[in-house]
Amino acid sequence: MSQPIRKIVIVGGGTAGWITACVVAAESRKRGDDAVEVVLVESPDIPIIGVGEGTWPSMRMTLRKIGLAEDDLIRECGASFKQGTRFRGWSGRPEIPEYIHPFSLPAEYSELNPAKFWLAHEERSAFADLVTPQARVINLGLAPKQAGAPQYAFTVNYGYHFDAGAFAGLLHRHAVRNPGVQYIAGNVERVESHPNGDIAAVALDTGERVAGDLFVDCTGQKALLIGDHYGKALISLKDVLFNDTAIAVQVPYADPGDPIAPVTVSTAQSHGWIWDIGLNSRRGIGYVHSSAHAGEDTAMAALKAYVKETSPGVDTGRLSFRAIPFEPGYRDRFWVNNCVAVGLSAGFIEPLEASALVLIEQSAAIIGEQLPRDREIMDVVAGRFNDKMRYHWRRIVEFLKLHYAISAREDSDYWKDNRSPETWPESLREKLTLWRQQPPWHDDAPRMDELFPSASYQYVLYGMGFKPRYTAAAGAGVERKRADEIFHGTRIKAERMARLLPTTRELVGAIARRNAA
Ligand SMILES: Cc1cc2nc3c(=O)[nH]c(=O)nc-3n(C[C@H](O)[C@H](O)[C@H](O)COP(=O)(O)OP(=O)(O)OC[C@H]3O[C@@H](n4cnc5c(N)ncnc54)[C@H](O)[C@@H]3O)c2cc1C
Repeated sequence: MSQPIRKIVIVGGGTAGWITACVVAAESRKRGDDAVEVVLVESPDIPIIGVGEGTWPSMRMTLRKIGLAEDDLIRECGASFKQGTRFRGWSGRPEIPEYIHPFSLPAEYSELNPAKFWLAHEERSAFADLVTPQARVINLGLAPKQAGAPQYAFTVNYGYHFDAGAFAGLLHRHAVRNPGVQYIAGNVERVESHPNGDIAAVALDTGERVAGDLFVDCTGQKALLIGDHYGKALISLKDVLFNDTAIAVQVPYADPGDPIAPVTVSTAQSHGWIWDIGLNSRRGIGYVHSSAHAGEDTAMAALKAYVKETSPGVDTGRLSFRAIPFEPGYRDRFWVNNCVAVGLSAGFIEPLEASALVLIEQSAAIIGEQLPRDREIMDVVAGRFNDKMRYHWRRIVEFLKLHYAISAREDSDYWKDNRSPETWPESLREKLTLWRQQPPWHDDAPRMDELFPSASYQYVLYGMGFKPRYTAAAGAGVERKRADEIFHGTRIKAERMARLLPTTRELVGAIARRNAA
């Protein structure tokens, strides 16, 4: 009989560690598998990274799966609702100062390729405005649902903005309240191995030895197990995605009743871009940039100028700025022997499009749903996990680079280097050539589990002002009529939503009041 897998040891208590613990425990409860034990070991001395405030709609599914109430998230994590990203200054074309990439797919997307019609008929509205009512909801600063809607239900698709430190704390409390998760505070000092190279146990500075059958490396940038112990190197992406440093700052609202932005605002700068995330009680702002193109002083000056411009009453001298360096890249293997890396230990590239937490959610879901019952099955699950994650990483790199590749900005070497096709992945070069004659469609993102569907490529391409060389036949007669019906339906829906939905601030306030009652 192959060795049964009964005890999962997660090392690290950041967002990655706690999401994995909650998901694995919830999945084994669902299976009625009370033989599975989950232990989370966390250093009491090494703080979590404490950034990562923007999520995808997938987070709703993850929270529901682990049985966490949305109201608790809103109340305890200063959370708000995110409906996508507004990109300012990215296009570099004066006629396009900004565009949005909303979370909702274009209406009837499986049936109709809206880009064909938008391009052929040179519609005057922005692409997103034509294809989804969510654009109007975002532009009016409205919430994605009414206050009386059930938790996690929505009128238009949404994820969250939240305080990352508070979120890890909420998950911790939630995990240990439920049966099946044990918490141990201690620094891992040593790794003990079996003769076949599997990890047998981690030894802590408290003298305790924690043995297990599967080890999950959630130690963040330290990558204690996958990097230090197994020596799996990062595949560096510095030549493709240049950003390697962020400076982060928390900025209070001038007035507690100030509007909360329903999207992450991403403003392009000469050497990177600034994120601006509206939480309930403050904004999280940061400049992610390339240290090879700009020194820290230059980046700091740009960030302070942004804060002054967007929050005139705030004294930047009283704010606390924090520099966070990172090596852009991912591991060549994520699951080795009986150890799997999840979170920053697996890799990280800049937070454009906020794709890190969704990878954590996906990794945790695979580990939870396909938890190998014995050691022999583990090798198969591991191989498939590695293939899937490599695919996701390659697609993320391609999609992020698209944002830079098609910009018309030329104000620095940073943008010129980004626009140079030599720095693009081969797959992107190919697709951008093809899209000169036909808009992206299902063949461009063929898998069921794509992180970025072809619609995301359309939002970015046509939001940025990408022009095809040839105009695809846009259909006439029946097809054109159907497209008009769909676009008309979108306008009607947008008008109705504009009348019915509260502002984001009103929705967050209503949730706080009903929980205080
Ligand atoms: C600037 C920036 C912005 C980001 N923005 C976003 C975003 O908007 N959206 C998004 O999805 N993601 C974002 N991310 C990524 C996101 O922050 C991370 O994916 C997420 O926080 C998960 O981190 P983690 O749990 O892997 O690591 P960490 O939070 O660093 O946790 C590591 C854990 O390991 C423990 N540990 C370390 N060494 C030991 C040891 N020897 N023994 C025991 N325990 C140990 C620590 O105590 C800690 O608990 C951003 C990242 C950065 C850098």
